Amino acid sequence: MRQNLFDKSPSSPVTLLHGVGPSRAAALEKLGIRTLSDLAYHFPRAYENRGNVKSLLTVSDGEVCSLVLTVSAPPKNAYVRRGMTITKVSAFDGDRDCAITYYNMPFVRDALIQGETYRFYGKVSKSGRKCQLTNPVFELWREDMPMRDFVPVYPLTDGISQKVMATLVKGALDVVLSSADSCDILPLEIKKKYSLCDISYALQGIHFPADSAMVEKARRRLAFDEFYLFVCSSLYSGASKKRSVGVRIDASFANELIDKLPYELTVAQRRSIGEICADMSSGYKMTRLLNGDVGSGKTVCAACAVYSAVRSGYQAAVMAPTEILATQHYHDFCELFGPLGVECLLLVGSLTAAKKMKIREKISSGEPAVVIGTHALIEDSVESTRFAVAVIDEQHRFGAAQREKLASKSEQCHILSMSATPIPRTLALALYGNMDVSVLDTMPPGRKKVDTYVVDESYRDRLDKFIIKNVNDGGQVYIVCPSIEPSETIESESGDTFSLDDLELFMPKPQKPQLKAAEPYAAELASRLGGITVGLIHGKMKSAEKDRVMNDFVSGKLSVLVSTTVIEVGVNVPNASLMMIENAEMFGLSTLHQLRGRVGRGERKSYCVLVCGGNSAETNGRLDIMKKTNDGYEIAQRDLEMRGPGDFMAELDGKIRQSGAVDFKLAALVGDGTLLYSATDAAHMTVDRDPALELPEHAVLRRAVTDGRKASAIS
Ligand code: ADP
Ligand code: MG
Repeated sequence: MRQNLFDKSPSSPVTLLHGVGPSRAAALEKLGIRTLSDLAYHFPRAYENRGNVKSLLTVSDGEVCSLVLTVSAPPKNAYVRRGMTITKVSAFDGDRDCAITYYNMPFVRDALIQGETYRFYGKVSKSGRKCQLTNPVFELWREDMPMRDFVPVYPLTDGISQKVMATLVKGALDVVLSSADSCDILPLEIKKKYSLCDISYALQGIHFPADSAMVEKARRRLAFDEFYLFVCSSLYSGASKKRSVGVRIDASFANELIDKLPYELTVAQRRSIGEICADMSSGYKMTRLLNGDVGSGKTVCAACAVYSAVRSGYQAAVMAPTEILATQHYHDFCELFGPLGVECLLLVGSLTAAKKMKIREKISSGEPAVVIGTHALIEDSVESTRFAVAVIDEQHRFGAAQREKLASKSEQCHILSMSATPIPRTLALALYGNMDVSVLDTMPPGRKKVDTYVVDESYRDRLDKFIIKNVNDGGQVYIVCPSIEPSETIESESGDTFSLDDLELFMPKPQKPQLKAAEPYAAELASRLGGITVGLIHGKMKSAEKDRVMNDFVSGKLSVLVSTTVIEVGVNVPNASLMMIENAEMFGLSTLHQLRGRVGRGERKSYCVLVCGGNSAETNGRLDIMKKTNDGYEIAQRDLEMRGPGDFMAELDGKIRQSGAVDFKLAALVGDGTLLYSATDAAHMTVDRDPALELPEHAVLRRAVTDGRKASAIS
């Protein structure tokens, strides 16, 4: 018996839907789907345009389309070997015959009836007069029966087919849509101002669009929601922090340090230090991010904060993600502060217990000093009521809770986070709504340029020679591959569906080139370049093994290091003179820039070679930017413009994101950068007017922000 619609609400469990028992519920759970609302927010990853109907005469080889064919003989099953069946179907249209083959779908034999006509959708292979289809989807076809042309393709899990998923989503939408507009997170004025459609139209349109224009409208609205909610969340959490009391520091002490520097500060350093000092002497807590490319001179800015704190009679803490980095900071600070009589302490895991004890005692004594360390600093055994500022280097390497924990050891402690991932100012405003941001967008003078080249496969011989030349000259070589094992192509699972971006073109995605894989690559290279020592490092290796390989590279035992993008941060190999990146077209410019930053750190003339698998104009234009500039901000800005903010952020995800509260499902597909800025503006407008989101029109938004889940907004 059909359940009454009124029994269900968006927050009802999926088991209330017809056809969902414990096993399907468990399968859905794997996709993070528990409620009807979750189903409504489970978006298609692509659409099949089954309205693109061709005839066997006109269709071309490799085309993905629909064919309306009549089955000419009863389908036959053949059992090839255990666990493997092949079903052969013969069909025809007015012009030609077509052979259809299904692998391991024996039920098809009884589903397809001789004499009936079906719409088959799939990739056609054609040679001469022969046409073939493999595993096409099919629907019964009648002249007078309306058929859906745009069919959603959902991310799936075992036990749920596309058809089942679409049916479940439809069932969920019946419930969700009836209350969607009355509990929309977007205030009416914002919908009007940015010409966004209603949420009910958007949900209907993203799942079951009538045409591509409808998908576009829906996608724009839902992506806006993602950005808007993201920015509102971070503004909302920042609003409560901002006005709490912070230790008042006499920041004029910073001048003593600056006067002693052997160089002139850059304009950006001067500006950032000014901002930090103003915060720390304001009487309110500082929550500031210092963002600047590697080598932009963040350390001295942090030192100004630390020095002022210690000279004002307090302590300061500096935390870095690895011992190497912490130790490096310790030496930097000793050098800067030594002549000024400020004591520096180092606290890292590898110290003896007795030494650690001594440092901890010094800290708890409350005497003015700066302590530099790793995670060891946030252990409970480290106690101080005198921390005036906590500096967190490579802040993305720590969880929000860890960052908070360091500062919360002392009441009223200021926080200065540092990040080396260049982010355009406009984007920083959206990403770091809960922090104030200082940007070091100019480099100290005198940095060496890394010469950069973009080449393709035809250069392979010359590349080999270039590697050998670098090694013979005493240099070392990094080679980065996009994957570990050869199987990891980035192709979609079926390979024959349309992505959202292709909608306007009604064309299947071009085949992706086979990606270079680190494992076989390293083996092949070693045999090809015989005599040169080649090492391999990737994310799936145990960390002890990784350390060993990395140490061999640092010590020069290995001349060439083949790796995936997971090369340890902070490891400095000044002798490295060549960075070669395979399938460079697969990487975002920001990633390429960071990889390139690993060479050119010593005296050697250094090079970066970007090897392209494909050679589309877009790719080359994009990579050409790498040749033109070494400026991380300019590169990030161009990257953002070309790929759009969603994609850009998806790649930076984990590197920079402040919270995982909002996941960008659609934003990653939106090429239009203005959408992010509109959403950021809108969020600022909302939170400026109503910082606690108390107004009645913000009730739904507030719930979404505090629950941290979009889907709950419509329950
Ligand atoms: P990062 O931002 O990567 O932490 P550092 O603070 O380590 O960069 O600075 C990189 C190098 O540049 C250091 O050796 C530092 O002494 C030097 N440096 C910093 N600021 C300047 C400047 N204004 N002029 C010249 N050299 C500078
Ligand atoms: Mg640094």
